[in-house]
Amino acid sequence: MDRRSFLAAAGAALSAYPGLAQNSGKQTQNVILVTTDGLRWEDLFRGADPAQINKTTGGVSNPDALKARFWRDSPEERRELLMPFVWKTVAKHGVLYGNRDRGSDAYVTNGMNFSYPGYSELLTGAPDDRINSNDQIDNPNVNVLEWLNTRESFRNRIAAFGAWDRFYYILNSRRSGLLVNDGYTPLHTNTPNDRIDLLNRVKAETDIWGSEAQDAPVFLLAKEYFRTARPRVFYLALGETDEWAHGGRYDLYLNAAHRVDRYVEELWNLAQSMDQYRGRTTLILAVDHGRGAEGASWRSHGQKVPESKYVWMGIMGPDTPALGERANAEPVTQSQVAATLAALLGEDYHAAFPKTGKPIAEAIQPAAK
Ligand SMILES: [Zn+2]
Repeated sequence: MDRRSFLAAAGAALSAYPGLAQNSGKQTQNVILVTTDGLRWEDLFRGADPAQINKTTGGVSNPDALKARFWRDSPEERRELLMPFVWKTVAKHGVLYGNRDRGSDAYVTNGMNFSYPGYSELLTGAPDDRINSNDQIDNPNVNVLEWLNTRESFRNRIAAFGAWDRFYYILNSRRSGLLVNDGYTPLHTNTPNDRIDLLNRVKAETDIWGSEAQDAPVFLLAKEYFRTARPRVFYLALGETDEWAHGGRYDLYLNAAHRVDRYVEELWNLAQSMDQYRGRTTLILAVDHGRGAEGASWRSHGQKVPESKYVWMGIMGPDTPALGERANAEPVTQSQVAATLAALLGEDYHAAFPKTGKPIAEAIQPAAK
């Protein structure tokens, strides 16, 4: 859909629902947030990395097969091959941050450059020195989903699905009461069906990593929930990109990234086919940390890999101008995502929690405070 019909659909959809909150002149009524663990900005913006299409550092046993699938001579062609939805749709209708080759920096401010601190910064809007491990510890900080859930119009209309079994703790489901389905936990809903039963079983029986389920059953379960429960704020957290990177398999890492792109497209298209979401939904894409750039360091990240603080993010929806791939832009930080998500929905998270990052103003029209 081009931008004009995109906006026309947004306007038509809004007038069909006069009872909706006005959201201070904004059209966004729903947000879909998708993360894929530790997918590097280098791969997103440059496509397949020639330095890793080998056995030694990339763990690729059949480089020719990988090249046939993901190699082209220019970075622009390569990246579009790897993540076609991001490049053909998000970059066209929305905005992408984090291409350091073009002077757009996006980074985490937590200093740890690994997962729990990264997701905590993303979802609570601030780094916290106490969050210094990936342990199963309830997050002491309020997160933006939890805060929105205290609002009448969002209550029990927020859900999170995560491949990693830490999201229950990161989002402090015990305190927040948020629906968080993560790891190998089966989904139990008020409206069970055969698909959910089947996917619960597939998820449980395809255990490779212990603490992280495979992306496919996580996504399919999440999509089934989205379709039937129609949450206003929906968070999908995928994890295979990080697992295959740590496993030193660049081929499977690229496959996982490509699949994530397809999943995002499927979810977006599903949303656009439903009255509640069509033209009134903003998509936010993010990651929890970057990874090393050179040699075998692409496999890892953390405090000892300083460049792993660099991340990327994307935003697309009826309130976001089509700024495309940003160049020579103001840096953005992980801590700004929570307030940006809330601001798109007309809520001022940054005012409620002043230590959090400010909304990314240019990504929201009319410009956020
Ligand atoms: Zn991670």
